[in-house]
Amino acid sequence: NNIVAIVGRPNVGKSTFFNRLIQRRDAIVDSVSGVTRDRNYGKSEWNGKQFSVIDTGGYIVGSDDVFEGEIRRQVQLAIDEADAIIFVVDVEEGITPMDMEVANLLRKVEKPVLLAVNKVDNAMRVADAVEFYSLGLGEYFTIAGMSGSGTGELLDKLVEVLPELPEAEEEENPLPRFTVVGRPNAGKSSFINALIGEDRFVVTDIAGTTRDAIDTTYNRFGFEFKLVDTAGIRRKAKVKEDLEFYSVMRSVRAIEHADVCILMIDATRGFESQDQNIFWLAQKNRKGVVILVNKWDLIEKDTMTAKQYEAKIRKEIEPFTDVPILFVSALTKQRLLKALEAAVEVFENRKQRIPTSKFNEMMLPIIEHTPPPAIKGKYIKIKYCMQLPTATPQFVFFANLPQYVKEPYKRFIENKLRENYNFSGVPIDIYFRQK
Ligand code: GDP
Repeated sequence: NNIVAIVGRPNVGKSTFFNRLIQRRDAIVDSVSGVTRDRNYGKSEWNGKQFSVIDTGGYIVGSDDVFEGEIRRQVQLAIDEADAIIFVVDVEEGITPMDMEVANLLRKVEKPVLLAVNKVDNAMRVADAVEFYSLGLGEYFTIAGMSGSGTGELLDKLVEVLPELPEAEEEENPLPRFTVVGRPNAGKSSFINALIGEDRFVVTDIAGTTRDAIDTTYNRFGFEFKLVDTAGIRRKAKVKEDLEFYSVMRSVRAIEHADVCILMIDATRGFESQDQNIFWLAQKNRKGVVILVNKWDLIEKDTMTAKQYEAKIRKEIEPFTDVPILFVSALTKQRLLKALEAAVEVFENRKQRIPTSKFNEMMLPIIEHTPPPAIKGKYIKIKYCMQLPTATPQFVFFANLPQYVKEPYKRFIENKLRENYNFSGVPIDIYFRQK
């Protein structure tokens, strides 16, 4: 997926615009997971072209008194990481010094930059917008985020200028693609080094689908897998800013290219909001997840420590709690093989296919025993179900009144599914459809 970053100073209407871009698809995804935690990252589609959108502004707390330096850094990061940039300015305010600074940064960029002049909702403002030519970014698009006018033209242009990504090759038996994600200093580099170390068995170097994502094949402990490495990940160790935005911006691409995300958390810090964000990114992208609690060597332990720690993390990742959690040390190399095994298992879980007849034999008696609650005297009957032939596990249940099946029943079905099949670490989708 191409990544599009929305930049601009606070209050120009970035998030209204962002919400407009991701609205429809997001609503679908979120009703399934029941989670609407992060509103700054989403998927969008225009003219059949899919892309991810990041609203950089969503990560700035406070409004007008934001440090210029902060915005400059965010813009720079967006420039580094995104494939295209939409720079939003506000016709009401006109050009501000901050706009000029951002424009200065963006003028040097080789990537597509689209200038969106927001709040243009009458003819006067159309005339006012002309001043934005002086930013030196060329043609601009007038939009009104509130009503949505003008966004069509902007998006037409956007999908036209987005770089063509090479088609992912369909492999017969693809190797698991793992990516190690987590906050700065969680121990990602240490883990990778401990895993592939000095005696790295590099089999091939295949240029990834983007300019900086490299999948390298490794062979360790009898497992063959690819590590998704990105310039972003490698640079991450140097990033001092422990802000949500940075971890998301830097993780998105790596996560999108993975089958399984190995989320490293620092045992001495616990599971914090940034970890939650990264977890959520993986879940939202329907990637497999393994959580490694690293630096376990530093924790004073008694018999209950790991259990309690684990329970706490599971609480944080609700409702998607069926995820392997392992306590490791990249330093002492404790349980690194187990960690790798867990990641391989999640990969296998994610690509399993359940034969339709077996699936019905399993699920229909459960449904018969505990049918969806009747609504307004109407009984909901589920007659048939199947796994869809999709890349990530999706299940459809055919019912006479699918619209009456509510979230708790979906959850019930998901739990039963997870009890009877191993989908540990794998987000699944469940749909109810009219037969
Ligand atoms: P990254 O930013 O996530 O790549 O983190 P690094 O791998 O650079 O590790 C950050 C710091 O934590 C370094 O000083 C490591 O030596 C240290 N570290 C990493 N893993 C462990 C571990 O398992 N135990 C201990 N005690 N220290 C660790």
